[in-house]
Amino acid sequence: RSKESGKDRHEVYEADMRARTAKRLGLEGDMRRAVERGCEEFVVRYQPLIDTATGRTSGLEALVRWEHPERGLVSPSDFIPLAEETGMIIAIGRRVLREACSRARDWSSLGPGGRGIEVSVNLSARQFRDPGLLEDVARVLGETGLRPGALTLEVTEGILTEDTPVVLATVQYLGLLGVKLAIDDFGTGYSSLAHVKRFPVDYLKIDRSIVSGIEEDPRDEAIVSAAITLAHALGERVVAEGVETEGQLARLRELGCEVAQGFHFSRPLDGEALAAWLDAGK
Ligand code: C2E
Ligand code: MG
Ligand code: MG
Ligand code: MG
Repeated sequence: RSKESGKDRHEVYEADMRARTAKRLGLEGDMRRAVERGCEEFVVRYQPLIDTATGRTSGLEALVRWEHPERGLVSPSDFIPLAEETGMIIAIGRRVLREACSRARDWSSLGPGGRGIEVSVNLSARQFRDPGLLEDVARVLGETGLRPGALTLEVTEGILTEDTPVVLATVQYLGLLGVKLAIDDFGTGYSSLAHVKRFPVDYLKIDRSIVSGIEEDPRDEAIVSAAITLAHALGERVVAEGVETEGQLARLRELGCEVAQGFHFSRPLDGEALAAWLDAGK
């Protein structure tokens, strides 16, 4: 009996693997076609970043989605890994960067007083290591007219543990361009204080997995509090990710966190909805 169920499990596992491989192969072909057709299926959503002191929008995070002709909207977790493995993330990322900078340039005049809205764009490790990145960033800034200081590139801690010449030069040159850097998902990787010290960044983004516990779990609160103290001591601003309740926001404000982002304020919005959001003075 146990032998049989073991075999069943094995068969189920194999069937699952086959399905995943087929799905992967299908997706990869579709992705290649989408990239060859100019990446138009890759669309960008924008999630507001809120200044905790004023309650108003200070920036946006650009988040890619794949508008697949048959599958509908595919979320990044379902296609970014494949895009990284195949290298197609370079072309897709270039499209996201251009789109985000061009919209942010248009939106910088919206709303009362035409605030200087900032925009953040995520880069995967492969993009950050790409020797063509700097040229892409400089070109997009030049062509869209976005102020370099209004652009933040988000990378996870992992990339900053690599002190290869390409990574070092990229960090330095982005700084010279005036583009900002953020450490994304802080608290989930192999955080090392040495790396935090070695690479000066502008923003430290604390991951949702820690932020979500700050009301109930004193340990999460202690970690968030320590991260904020550390960031401030290094002259960095703090963004809390995944804020879903008023209580979390209140606590973050007390702890001195400058910026908050999450469903409590807004889900990622399409361009039109975001323009309306800013126009309403939010
Ligand atoms: P991330 O950069 O940490 O982005 C935050 C993710 O959390 C987004 O998921 C966002 O929709 C989600 N989120 C925001 N607020 C809340 C909240 O209150 N509750 C919950 N449950 N979730 C919230 P999304 O859009 O699915 O993106 C997932 C990840 O995919 C991103 O994590 C980022 O690492 C990656 N990604 C997204 N866009 C791009 C891109 O253009 N290029 C690259 N290389 N990676 C991207
Ligand atoms: Mg991010
Ligand atoms: Mg993040
Ligand atoms: Mg995160």
